[in-house]
Amino acid sequence: MLGIAGCAALVQAASLNGEWYVPLSDWAGANGLRPAGSWRGARVVVTNRVNRLEFEVDSAQSRINGVNVRLSFPVASVRGAPHLARLDLDKTLLPLLSPVSDPSPRRIATICLDPGHGGKDTGNHVGGLFGRNEKTYTLALAQELRDQLKRAGFNVILTRNRDSFVELPARVALANRVGADLFLSLHFNGTPSNKNEVDGVETYCITPVGASSSNAQGEGSRHGPTAANRFENKSLQLAYQMQKSLVQTLRAEDRGVRRARFAVLRDATMPALLIEGGYLSHPVEGKKIFDSAYRQQMAAAIVKGILAYQKPTSVPAKVKSTAASAAPVRKRAVKPPETYKFK
Ligand SMILES: [Zn+2]
Repeated sequence: MLGIAGCAALVQAASLNGEWYVPLSDWAGANGLRPAGSWRGARVVVTNRVNRLEFEVDSAQSRINGVNVRLSFPVASVRGAPHLARLDLDKTLLPLLSPVSDPSPRRIATICLDPGHGGKDTGNHVGGLFGRNEKTYTLALAQELRDQLKRAGFNVILTRNRDSFVELPARVALANRVGADLFLSLHFNGTPSNKNEVDGVETYCITPVGASSSNAQGEGSRHGPTAANRFENKSLQLAYQMQKSLVQTLRAEDRGVRRARFAVLRDATMPALLIEGGYLSHPVEGKKIFDSAYRQQMAAAIVKGILAYQKPTSVPAKVKSTAASAAPVRKRAVKPPETYKFK
């Protein structure tokens, strides 16, 4: 994968406001991807026999083989040519498109499920005084998922099995202590406004070092490495398969694979995700989440996502690292301005 010296002439990195960017045409060419259309539009699509990658200039939203994935930095236009941040090539596209850049086995014996919230922490609440609380449905989903995972042959442990309050650090500490092979934190979203418009599923994994997070309170790019960064590629691969399975199975709106340094993710010493399984506040999606048949489907989709992740043959095709090809990394002289940071 390294030593692609021939690419040095092809792939030139440029520093844009302190972040290294690579021309999309160079990187795509070095990886056998061709544009489906013009390089110069607001939307650029590159394809080969097995991959289809869609980008939008000035946006961090990308679509990788049919699944929405948030990049860490928006695609930039330099003299009309689209450029991608090198960090995204190495920390997002390469792990998703390269076959097993990490060949260590993916044997999954024990899965730790974390039903979000509980006890005095209700999570999202909808429907007024006698309404419904997120904590009720995260537990119901976790219990259904536990049963399905056990039937599929996995050991399962829950961070709570009743309506009790558990501190965030204690949840991931339990997963670490029992040596779980995966950690899945289960949540449902809510919004106070635009209730009729906002719906869909999101899957979060740890933010790469050097990038800002893509959750609402996303911390800046200067956050140091966390324990979870050791498993960031595997967490991203799991997040991708999870989001794909959830969106396809539930026919839910695809709000994308996203990155966050949530307290329940950053200390995990195994691949770890936080799933936002839909919006309780949406009149249609909320009703589905309250229905046990829909939660059974959701649990089945999560099992399917885990199984797809477990066999890395489902990863499509070879893409080369930029590691040997881009210009040497300089220490950032300038902090990227807000426009280059995705919140
Ligand atoms: Zn929650």
